[in-house]
Amino acid sequence: MNELLKKSATEQSKALKNKEISAVELTNAAFERISELDDKLGAFNSLTKETALKTAKEVDSKIAKGEDLPLLAGIPLALKDNMNLIGSKTTASSKILENFVSPFNATITEKLLNNLVPIVGKANLDEFAMGSSNENSAFRKVHNPWDLNKVPGGSSGGSAASVASCEVTLSLGSDTGGSIRLPASFCGIVGMKPTYGRVSRYGLIAFASSLDQIGPFARTVEDAANLLEVIAGHDPKDSTSLNLPVEHYSANLDNDITGLKVGVIKELMSEGLAPDVQKAMETAIDCYKKLGAEIVEISLPNLKHSIGIYYILATAECSSNLARFDGVRYGYRTPDAKNLMEMYTKTRAEGFGPEVKRRIMLGTYALSSGYYDAYYKKAQQMRALVTQDFIEAFKKADVLISPTCPNTAFELGAKSNDPLAMYLTDIATISANLAGIPGLSVPAGFDKDGMPIGLQILAPQLQESKLFNAAHKFERANDFYTKLADI
Ligand code: GLN
Repeated sequence: MNELLKKSATEQSKALKNKEISAVELTNAAFERISELDDKLGAFNSLTKETALKTAKEVDSKIAKGEDLPLLAGIPLALKDNMNLIGSKTTASSKILENFVSPFNATITEKLLNNLVPIVGKANLDEFAMGSSNENSAFRKVHNPWDLNKVPGGSSGGSAASVASCEVTLSLGSDTGGSIRLPASFCGIVGMKPTYGRVSRYGLIAFASSLDQIGPFARTVEDAANLLEVIAGHDPKDSTSLNLPVEHYSANLDNDITGLKVGVIKELMSEGLAPDVQKAMETAIDCYKKLGAEIVEISLPNLKHSIGIYYILATAECSSNLARFDGVRYGYRTPDAKNLMEMYTKTRAEGFGPEVKRRIMLGTYALSSGYYDAYYKKAQQMRALVTQDFIEAFKKADVLISPTCPNTAFELGAKSNDPLAMYLTDIATISANLAGIPGLSVPAGFDKDGMPIGLQILAPQLQESKLFNAAHKFERANDFYTKLADI
């Protein structure tokens, strides 16, 4: 492997500017690394070589002319395969979209192309982003670069594994209930979910529209901050995107955090924590103390309801969002239907995988007349209480910390026949989506088998700068981020 692939985007940008390597060479090095690892990892659904090299050439010609480069120009990046890029297949890792070619770009794609970021391919995911292990892909499983017998986490498993294994330097994922933070934690990298509405969802295949948010993966907090700066901003094509200026998120990374109030979420620190995760959390708390932060204990009394709330709201929204995949307009259509109704039912029966069908059924049930008040409406009311818990918590603390997940990556197949056990993996991440607040996972150590542990940090809405600052200080006070999977 080209050693430069192991470096951060910041270091790669310097190397490009100093002409130690050209953008075309760096992009080709990424493709070589991908071809070396693809069979083992399964991180990509497709590669977009032509697009990537075209962008890389533009970067090189700008460098040759001595022109300034936009942020992250020339840095190889992977898009989760539920984001549209003109002319590429956007499958959402589903059979129903297996041959769907994007006729348009997502807004984040446009922003990346404007910044001359080479998009090298589309990363594997759980079908329609539903899952926590990436085992729900209709095509193939993704393997964890730290141990190929283990899951990378989901649903953005390909995005996380590709960055952790240095196939690419950056990637984007989508986070509806933890799908960026969980795989970041399992793969030992940084993954960040912005405030709801900070990044446009236009061109992201919708799962649960009131929860979905696109965010960055990187091997350092600084790189994640820069990638968020590139993709964030108001978009008239997404009515939920916030019309507020984008900050220069990396400007305050090194700010002193003396006196910062770090709240430890009580409910996530005791029950069911793996002993090594517990130890890593104690070490993280000590680290913040040494950095001058003030530790306070925080209680989120309604957190215990978050999984129940999420699996009603997310399934209700997905049952509506996925209604459009009926064989009429997009993707797969059953070849043998005798009439229209049979065409609908067979197309959906053959096109969707079991987890997607389970969610559509749960959501349809929760929304049906007679049950709406008992389930959907109640869940909406409970969502408000979870949000209120955070409002109260942030009166006492500037940021909150917890493990990203109570355990480290598990064996492939360990939970695939037990949906409830799989759903419980998201206990620490889901409430941030319900409340619309930003959160990230930063490497915080390893368990006895050498598997990465993630520290989750949460901040109030639109305080991503504070979040990045708290995460960067923690990252640089430790050396976990310098360790790479030996693959
Ligand atoms: N694991 C959660 C689910 O299965 C979250 C997925 C996500 O964030 N996209 O729904």
